[in-house]
Amino acid sequence: MSGAILVLSGPSGAGKSTIIDSASNRIGEYYFSISTTTREPREGEVHGVDYYFVSKEEFEEDIKAGQFLEYATVHSNYYGTSLKPVKEALEMGKLVIFDIDVQGHRLVRAKMGDLVTSAFITPPSLKELERRLYGRSTDKSYIIEQRIENAKEEIKAIGEFDFVIINDIIDRASLEFATIANASRLKLSKQELENLVVQWENGLS
Ligand code: ADP
Ligand code: 5GP
Repeated sequence: MSGAILVLSGPSGAGKSTIIDSASNRIGEYYFSISTTTREPREGEVHGVDYYFVSKEEFEEDIKAGQFLEYATVHSNYYGTSLKPVKEALEMGKLVIFDIDVQGHRLVRAKMGDLVTSAFITPPSLKELERRLYGRSTDKSYIIEQRIENAKEEIKAIGEFDFVIINDIIDRASLEFATIANASRLKLSKQELENLVVQWENGLS
């Protein structure tokens, strides 16, 4: 059995990290894909836990070496998903969770096709997104403004996703996310379906 991929996208400040944290004890074993980025670490962020923080030069070396499953420029920085750990986790049959932007979602879906389930997370309104970004107080105001402008573009991609989670009440959003994550484990690839039919016909299982 191969694993499954769950892509979580949505504006910065939508609550993606909060939801993954609060749902983590309800979704069994999973592998969270730690991205590589050229953005500066925020206070409290740890290299190798939140992100792999690298220079622009190091990131571009990795691009040349073909190490990324996908990468994109988001808010003027590079962000990318390394292929190797994702492949290993999938081979072990694990659910792999990505927190990536809408461009990354398109690329992962194009490459990984039927292994992918996706959910777009958003606060109930743009106003509430602004409140959360300022409330988080992790970014300077010009960076927050850039993220708000970007959010107005990202929301236009909402129809490309399998599911939408409105993160209004955190407990409800977290439960919805856990339901989607657990269902995504049950999705079979075309190859797995073909194998199942052969086994079913031959009475091998
Ligand atoms: P993201 O990972 O999508 O950038 P975060 O998880 O960091 O977003 O959440 C952004 C801010 O919003 C944080 O300060 C978080 O505590 C807060 N937050 C998340 N979900 C909710 C919610 N349902 N109601 C109110 N505040 C929330
Ligand atoms: P932040 O700087 O707030 O941590 O993340 C900014 C945006 O980059 C978020 O929308 C997040 O989902 C996205 N992001 C994080 N890692 C990756 C990645 O590996 N690839 C892509 N395409 N986007 C990412």
